[in-house]
Amino acid sequence: MADPKGFLKVTERELPARRPVPVRILDWKEVYEPGDKAVLTRQAGRCMDCGVPFCHQGCPLGNLIPEWNDLTWKGEDRSAIDRLHATNNFPEFTGRLCPAPCESACVLGINQPAVTIKQIEVSIIDEAVSNGWVEPKPPTRLTGKTVAVVGSGPAGLAAAQQLTRAGHTVAVYERDDRIGGLLRYGIPDFKMEKKHLEMRLRQMRDEGTRFRAGVTIGEDIAWDELRQRYDAVVVATGATVPRDLSIPGRDLAGVHYAMEYLVEQNRAGAGDDVPNQITAEGKHVIVIGGGDTGADCIGTAHRHGALSVTNLAIGTKPSETRPEHQPWPTDPTVFEVSSAHEEGGERRFLASTVEFLGNEAGEVRALRVAETEYLPDGRRVPKSGTEHEIPADLVLIAMGFTGPERDRLEDQLSTQFTSRGAIERDDRYETADPGVFVAGDAGRGQSLIVWAIAEGRAAAAKVDEYLMGETFLPAPVQPTDVGMHV
Ligand SMILES: Cc1cc2nc3c(=O)[nH]c(=O)nc-3n(C[C@H](O)[C@H](O)[C@H](O)COP(=O)(O)OP(=O)(O)OC[C@H]3O[C@@H](n4cnc5c(N)ncnc54)[C@H](O)[C@@H]3O)c2cc1C
Ligand code: SF4
Repeated sequence: MADPKGFLKVTERELPARRPVPVRILDWKEVYEPGDKAVLTRQAGRCMDCGVPFCHQGCPLGNLIPEWNDLTWKGEDRSAIDRLHATNNFPEFTGRLCPAPCESACVLGINQPAVTIKQIEVSIIDEAVSNGWVEPKPPTRLTGKTVAVVGSGPAGLAAAQQLTRAGHTVAVYERDDRIGGLLRYGIPDFKMEKKHLEMRLRQMRDEGTRFRAGVTIGEDIAWDELRQRYDAVVVATGATVPRDLSIPGRDLAGVHYAMEYLVEQNRAGAGDDVPNQITAEGKHVIVIGGGDTGADCIGTAHRHGALSVTNLAIGTKPSETRPEHQPWPTDPTVFEVSSAHEEGGERRFLASTVEFLGNEAGEVRALRVAETEYLPDGRRVPKSGTEHEIPADLVLIAMGFTGPERDRLEDQLSTQFTSRGAIERDDRYETADPGVFVAGDAGRGQSLIVWAIAEGRAAAAKVDEYLMGETFLPAPVQPTDVGMHV
């Protein structure tokens, strides 16, 4: 156990400060100031090393949280990163981007604020990187088996790293020009700078994973041909089909899916020439949808110099504290103020969109909205008599994703889809085509990075078993696992 009386002596959470808003919206760097080692040690010392560590249950990866808290408190940083890497291939991603369901399950959270688990995680990996401890771990022998991983988001990368280390020859195919999936072209730099992704890709290349960017499976190579070329295939193509808002005026200029906007900014940030880039500069911006994607659009719009940013959510405002029907240790839905929300803009709840209004040039000029009315059958509709207009020069639709793209998969393989639009797989992550496995958002629907990594690891174990008859790779989650495992 870290400090036996730590949780009695230190009863508050302490996190690094975020850089001042007026300063940070002038650049695209991460929002946090560097952390203080003494604060981190104090926080690690609050961990009670519970007999039943509910935080393990809260984390889809089963991260060994009390163990690395203890090692951090003792200053044994090298051992801490080894324990962290034992269950998590990419703590530099989760330590920055995970919503930390582990903290909702922390036993301290019953009567005081949870241990700052996510902050300790990111500090361990950052310390390891700066000390040169993240070294390639190439396999000691090759199996002679080949695996194609399609999609280079966190699920594909985790599967590829596990399978490469198990001795298989792995090629990752990605249709974008750069590797990384949503880590590359979805998530803005102010949440995670790309240097962290580059660091991990370097390690993977040095271990022997091969990357093939700019290749669309289904078009450049047919899915069935890929299956024939390789001993196994992992489909990690994400859930990329955006949910649309089919109301009048949808085709006006200035109405875009969030990902059109975010991808272009990420390209510009990488130094690409982006002709006619969608920008919020000098515009009234409306972001429809309240999740991570919406928040990323808000932060990006502020950095572009928007005149105003309004975020609309159709539902009620979540409560600020844990609601009674979501008791500890579940991961509750609470009102969150992300760094992007802190930077400005207005958040409106119970806002139902009715119509996009345009000018004579066919450009959006306003959005007609109404208050949301809940019908007895649970449906949400615009309440008559409450309609009003909000000025808008740029509207970003961030209403989530309906699932993976399906046409070529259906045509070229025997792939089946669930009623929710995800790719059907059994409890071994295998699809209707023997030797074709699926991991990440493609199989579970739109989710989180931590789940993508957990699924990539678990699917890799099943692929290894399929190829070799047995496996020593860990499989942290089942395809049917949802949210908290408690
Ligand atoms: C804007 C945004 C912000 C987010 N922020 C967070 C966050 O802060 N924290 C968090 O936990 N989660 C966040 N998420 C969710 C998270 O990014 C996803 O759950 C995660 O990336 C899913 O990983 P994946 O590997 O399954 O798929 P993806 O990351 O979507 O990667 C799939 C890849 O497959 C490629 N591909 C698709 N089809 C083909 C094909 N036929 N051939 C070759 N390549 C193909 C795609 O180009 C893509 O690169 C966010 C999502 C979005 C959209
Ligand atoms: S990956 Fe997420 S849930 Fe797991 S320990 Fe880290 S912050 Fe917590």
